[in-house]
Amino acid sequence: MRVVLLGTAAAGGFPRWNCACVRCDAARDGKLPVRGPECAAVTGNSRDWWLLNAPPDIRAQLTAASALWPGPRHTPVRGVLLTDAETDHVAGLAVLGAAAGLKTYAAPPVLAALAPARAGLDRHAPWEWADSLTEGGFVLAGGLVVTAHPVPGKAPAYVPGRPSDRRWVTVYRIEDLATGRVLVYAPRVGAWSSLLDDLVATADCVVLDGTHFAAEEPGAAGRHLPVSGPAGSLAALARHPRARRIYTHLADSNPLLDPASAARAQVSETGAEVLPDGTEFAL
Ligand SMILES: [Zn+2]
Repeated sequence: MRVVLLGTAAAGGFPRWNCACVRCDAARDGKLPVRGPECAAVTGNSRDWWLLNAPPDIRAQLTAASALWPGPRHTPVRGVLLTDAETDHVAGLAVLGAAAGLKTYAAPPVLAALAPARAGLDRHAPWEWADSLTEGGFVLAGGLVVTAHPVPGKAPAYVPGRPSDRRWVTVYRIEDLATGRVLVYAPRVGAWSSLLDDLVATADCVVLDGTHFAAEEPGAAGRHLPVSGPAGSLAALARHPRARRIYTHLADSNPLLDPASAARAQVSETGAEVLPDGTEFAL
């Protein structure tokens, strides 16, 4: 299995266009690496690629990733696996819309929330829309077996009434049939759970929500499990030293964006990683 980290920032990317905080300024000055909104691509055979989420920057992200460039006849991108319905994860579907026959997997409430957008996309080029929570999981072209797992989360703010449903947010377990290697993709995690322990215990690599380093960061309350602290994800990941552990979805308030920060040193000491956009690796 090959994995490309197409984007590793939270919604809005890094720097955020309307923010002049010390880190966003440093990124504009070229002192910190620029990052696009979180997104990744996976393949089991180097021919059929699947996107994990579709942020609004997807055109630039695909342009920067030569493995995903189109050939003379068609794109190697076969479809998209959505973890939720947040705009930073679905807005890029409109960019992908010109391609016919893409298959998009998402949980039922996410598919329902996207109904208006789906109608517009299907009018140009029919897509296939599939339930990611289908019993027993599903198999992707290229030999990847996928199961989706709901984790606690709320409906996006644009959904009228924000109905509660335990399936608004999912994490993906992706296994390469040929090698047995496993990727767990969990860019939005509000709290650690025994489910995550079970998933990561069987994984060779986990790409995890690293939005906030500390619970005190602005906007950190409740939505994203912080990296640090006794109940943070770094402590939980330390129970799984066998897996490669990579943080993604970094907010501009996160000191991990700075390679010279004490926060980055603390994470690196445990063997967990913060990698630049465009990083490709094999499992
Ligand atoms: Zn900023």
